[in-house]
Amino acid sequence: MKTLPDSLKTVTPADDGYRLLRSTYTTHHSPAQILLPGSPTEVQHAMAYAAGTELPVSIRSGGHGLAGTSSNDGGIVVDLSRMDTVTVLDRPSGLVRVDAGARWAQVASALAPHGLAVSSGDHGGVGVGGLATAGGIGWLVRQYGLTIDHVRAATVVLPSGELVRADEANPDLLWAVRGAGSYVGVVTDLDIEAMELPGIQVGQVVIEVDREGRALVEWSRFLQAAPRELTMSGVLATSGGGLVLVLTAVFAGTDARRAQAALVPLLARPRVHAGGMQAARYTDLVPAGHLHANLGQQPSATTNALLAAFTADSAQALIELVRHPSGPFVQVRGIGGAAADIAPDATAFPHRDAEVLVTATLFPPRGARELAAVTRPLWPHAVGAYRNFESHPSEATFARAFPGATGERVHELAHRYDPGGVLQRVALRGAR
Ligand SMILES: Cc1cc2nc3c(=O)[nH]c(=O)nc-3n(C[C@H](O)[C@H](O)[C@H](O)COP(=O)(O)OP(=O)(O)OC[C@H]3O[C@@H](n4cnc5c(N)ncnc54)[C@H](O)[C@@H]3O)c2cc1C
Repeated sequence: MKTLPDSLKTVTPADDGYRLLRSTYTTHHSPAQILLPGSPTEVQHAMAYAAGTELPVSIRSGGHGLAGTSSNDGGIVVDLSRMDTVTVLDRPSGLVRVDAGARWAQVASALAPHGLAVSSGDHGGVGVGGLATAGGIGWLVRQYGLTIDHVRAATVVLPSGELVRADEANPDLLWAVRGAGSYVGVVTDLDIEAMELPGIQVGQVVIEVDREGRALVEWSRFLQAAPRELTMSGVLATSGGGLVLVLTAVFAGTDARRAQAALVPLLARPRVHAGGMQAARYTDLVPAGHLHANLGQQPSATTNALLAAFTADSAQALIELVRHPSGPFVQVRGIGGAAADIAPDATAFPHRDAEVLVTATLFPPRGARELAAVTRPLWPHAVGAYRNFESHPSEATFARAFPGATGERVHELAHRYDPGGVLQRVALRGAR
């Protein structure tokens, strides 16, 4: 078995810092050792050591993974949080290098002075490593596409401890990093093409949803025809005896008139309410206020379905879901736009026909088994699923996230780069 260099920072249950490092955002854990490398070379040492044990191995960037796989019980955690540098490599092209241990609030605030942004997700506390190796469906997804769509290269430490570049010269590895990174290695940094973003406009829209769900169908038709600068996401909830879709509208750009005009066709419909669009900064959406320690404070069961666009039937199925007595928390996001420009086989996220992402969450004491029953009506309408909104990964959720040839390629590359299955040594939570 390889030994660890003395210089590699390590925290064990006997250390003071253990309490703040043992868990993830969603799960409480008790790992035996937390390794805190400060450089790719130290990640190489950490992985070579971890691979030589028989213990569970967890890779952690921001600790916000819903499945709680970035920690474990009795095993080793490789925590990249000390590696959080954000560098503008080339301002004209927007190319930036982001360490995997940075959180998206840090990325947004580091890029803002340069007039640049990377659309990531809706939370500043989420880590770069877990999101930019899986998808990244963010506030500006219709303008920018997914975060992975702009990953041009990455540094990867393979489970063997070998350091490699994933780039055009290594297209298989780059393909895997763009959607299935956790199957092939530990990404230590990514080169991402950021977008020019001098500012944004933000507003709230509330849509009263009728019993037949026509308002949902009309909303998704509206968004398909809307300018790409407009992205909308929100919550579908019961309100009194009715249903409301409460949306945040984000417009990529400073042109207030264009932003307001983009909403006009929606606002012309009955039972749609809105305040005006307000000028804001991208950093307001993923603020530093989101940064916090992960103490297992948000246990939940979450699953998701990607839909082509709402039809009368899929809207009806969603309404059935929202009205379920279990009371699921349901979020609805518009996708499409630039996300659909990428060929389905160009990255490990093949769902380029998806126009809507629906996520459903239950909180304790309700769990994954109940959620599976609650969400059953939605599956016949799904075109796939996003792996990062699955709290209880299984073969079935793998098949939804990586269907057909995509899944076969992920399996093949996982076997090629991680033949010993080191990265799969994290015990997954069974459905409860
Ligand atoms: C509050 C909240 C809001 C969210 N909002 C969005 C959103 O708007 N859009 C969106 O797309 N997603 C969103 N997510 C989901 C998010 O993309 C995932 O939870 C993501 O995995 C979190 O990344 P992390 O680095 O914080 O996770 P971690 O818990 O650190 O890691 C999760 C898993 O990712 C893998 N991983 C982590 N780092 C690396 C690495 N460096 N190399 C290889 N594999 C790695 C490992 O398998 C690890 O177990 C949200 C999650 C939360 C909790």
